[in-house]
Amino acid sequence: MRKQIAAANWKMNLTYSEGQQLLSDILKENIGGKENHEVIFAVPFPYLAMAKEKTNGIQNYHIAAQNCSHKKSGAYTGEVSVGMLKSIDVNYCIIGHSERREYFNETNEVLAEKVNLLLEAGMTPIFCCGEPLSIREAGTQNEFVANQLKESLFHLNADDIKKVIIAYEPIWAIGTGKTATTEQAQEMHAYLRSVIAAQYGADVANEISILYGGSVKANNAKELFACADVDGGLVGGASLIATEFVEIIKALK
Ligand code: PGA
Repeated sequence: MRKQIAAANWKMNLTYSEGQQLLSDILKENIGGKENHEVIFAVPFPYLAMAKEKTNGIQNYHIAAQNCSHKKSGAYTGEVSVGMLKSIDVNYCIIGHSERREYFNETNEVLAEKVNLLLEAGMTPIFCCGEPLSIREAGTQNEFVANQLKESLFHLNADDIKKVIIAYEPIWAIGTGKTATTEQAQEMHAYLRSVIAAQYGADVANEISILYGGSVKANNAKELFACADVDGGLVGGASLIATEFVEIIKALK
């Protein structure tokens, strides 16, 4: 069975001690989960080492960065490289979140460079895609999201694309309290899997975890994750509340 994943995206929230407390509150619940379950905490850069230490030795729990530089190293003040993340044993990294695409001008081309650097380093990219409201209203969301995959991922070979986790996050559902319906989520996830299958074959497509993101909460996670092609969630707001995120982990199928 495909990996089922609950990924927390803290974004730019919490102080160091609040982050420590949140992790302690979640970890004390001791949710081992099934063998095919993974729990990932994408925390701010200054908290990576702390989060790493706290989850050390807990099977299937991982730490992710929320971004990385598209440059390998050098005179890029303020940037954090893939090599730096790897050197502190961070093995996952979110890329292409809609907030980064919107506020920091990340293009599909730049994301292709980040994917390459992450895979070269043996890390797992969590690649975000998703359409804005205007595209959903125009009814062209399928083409829009498929194009994000094509331009950032489809240069990869079959072995490499299998290492990528995809997160579908309709922008109109992020932080708005407006969740996609289970039908909308399932429809898009199945469509994306078919686009991958057309390029790489069904076997490859069936191995790739596709997470849903956008106002996932304790009270809707189970229904969303029950969809055949939804392999868990990328969770913003609700991941900042221990009781919420614990329920979301428990909702994995
Ligand atoms: P949200 O954020 O759960 O607060 O909607 C999801 C995300 O942006 O990853």
